[in-house]
Amino acid sequence: MRDATRIVRSSLTPAKAGDPLHHGPVFAAPFHTPGDPAEAPYSYARSHNPTWTELEAAIAAIECSSEAAALGLRARAVLDGTAEDPAAAQPFQAKALVFASGMAAVAAVFGAALRPGDIAVLPADAYFAARTLMTEYFVQMGIKLRLAPTAGDGLAEALEGAKLLWLETPSNPTLDVCDIAALSRAAHKAGALVAVDNTTATPLGQSPLALGADFSVVSDTKLMTGHGDLLIGHVAVCEGAVDSNGASLYAKLDQWRTLTGGVLGPMEAWLALRSLGTLPLRMERTGANAMKIAEFLTGRPEVMQVMYPGMKSDPGHAIASRQMIGYGPVLSFVLKNRKVAESFFAHTKLITEATSFGGLTTSAERRARWGHDEVRAGLIRFSAGCEAAEDLIEDIEQALVKSAAGAA
Ligand SMILES: *Cc1c(COP(=O)(O)O)cnc(C)c1O
Repeated sequence: MRDATRIVRSSLTPAKAGDPLHHGPVFAAPFHTPGDPAEAPYSYARSHNPTWTELEAAIAAIECSSEAAALGLRARAVLDGTAEDPAAAQPFQAKALVFASGMAAVAAVFGAALRPGDIAVLPADAYFAARTLMTEYFVQMGIKLRLAPTAGDGLAEALEGAKLLWLETPSNPTLDVCDIAALSRAAHKAGALVAVDNTTATPLGQSPLALGADFSVVSDTKLMTGHGDLLIGHVAVCEGAVDSNGASLYAKLDQWRTLTGGVLGPMEAWLALRSLGTLPLRMERTGANAMKIAEFLTGRPEVMQVMYPGMKSDPGHAIASRQMIGYGPVLSFVLKNRKVAESFFAHTKLITEATSFGGLTTSAERRARWGHDEVRAGLIRFSAGCEAAEDLIEDIEQALVKSAAGAA
C-alpha cells in the first residue's frame, strides 16, 4: 500500500457496528488500576495515555514503512556495498514517543544520551534553541561540545571520542545538506549515537532511522501537523535499539518524559492525529509550490541567491536526492539588504510575515531580525503553503519589483 493511502486511513477504528470512525481524545489523569498495577496498560497519564498511543503508532508507521524509508535502506546498502544482496536491506520496526513540543523532544535525546564528560558534536548552524539548550545547560553540567557546519567535512572530522552526533538536514535557514548514511556510519565507528533533527523534511520525506541514525527527532509543530495551532514533538527509535551499555533507547526516553513531566495534553495529541491524515497531501502541494517558487526566484534579477536542495543547481542536491523523497516547503533567498527585504514584506499580500514553517498558509520572514543565526541581512526564509502557486508567484513578483524600485 502507498504512503498516501496508509496514512489517510491510519486513524480509522475497526469496523464495528455503532462505533465512531475515529476515537476522540481520552481525558484522564489516573486510570482504573485494581490489583497489580503492572498489569494495567494505563495507570497515570504522565506516563502514558491512549490518545498518545494512537498518535505514536501512526508516527512510528511513517518512520519505518514510508517510501522514504525504502529509499533510505537502499542508500545505506549502496554505501555498505550490499546493494546487490536482497537480504541486506532489512525492513525494521520503529517506536515513537510524543512530547509537548519539539524542544521537549530535543531535551529528551540530550538527557537520555549524555552524561558528564561525554562529548557531543552539533552543527554550528543547528536550530538555535537546541544549540542554546546545549551550551546554557548541558555544557554547564559537564558535557563537552564540538561545533562544525552542516555542509563540508567538519562534522565527520569532529567525531573522535564523541558520544552523540546531532544532525539537522536540510539545515535552517540556509538549507545546507549533509549525508545521514555516511555520517551515521562514521559516528558508529567512533562509538557515537546519531540523532537527526528531521523537522524540515518530516519522516515522510526522509527517513533517518533507515539511513542508519539512532534517533529521529521532529518538531511536529511544523509540517507534520501543519496548521499552525499546535506545539508538539516526537522522537522515534528502532525497536530494540540499545546504547553502548545495553540500555534500551526507548526506555530511557520514556523514563525521561515521565520524570520531567512536561507532557502533551490529550487534546493536542488528538488534533495532531487528525492533522496527520493530510500530511501526504500537504507535503505534495507545499513541496511542489516550493520548487516552482525557487525556480521562479532563480531567474530574477532582484534575487542574489536561492537556497533549495530540490533544485538541481543547489550544492546540496546530489546528497539530498539520495536520501529525500520530497524536498519540503522551506526555501531561502537573499535580497540586496535589510531595507529591500523589509520593503518586500510591506508589498506582499499573500505572504504572512511570521516565524515557523510548514503551515497550510504561506509564511516567510527576514531571518536576521531575530539575531539568532549568522545570516545575511537580506535573507528571507520562506515556507510555501498550499495556495495556488500562480497566485503566490504573481504576488512575489510584484513585491520584488516594488521593493527593488523603492531602493533604487
Ligand atoms: C521549531 C523547531 C524545533 C523546536 O520545536 P518546537 O516545537 O518549537 O519546540 C526544533 N528543530 C527545528 C529544526 C525546528 O524548526
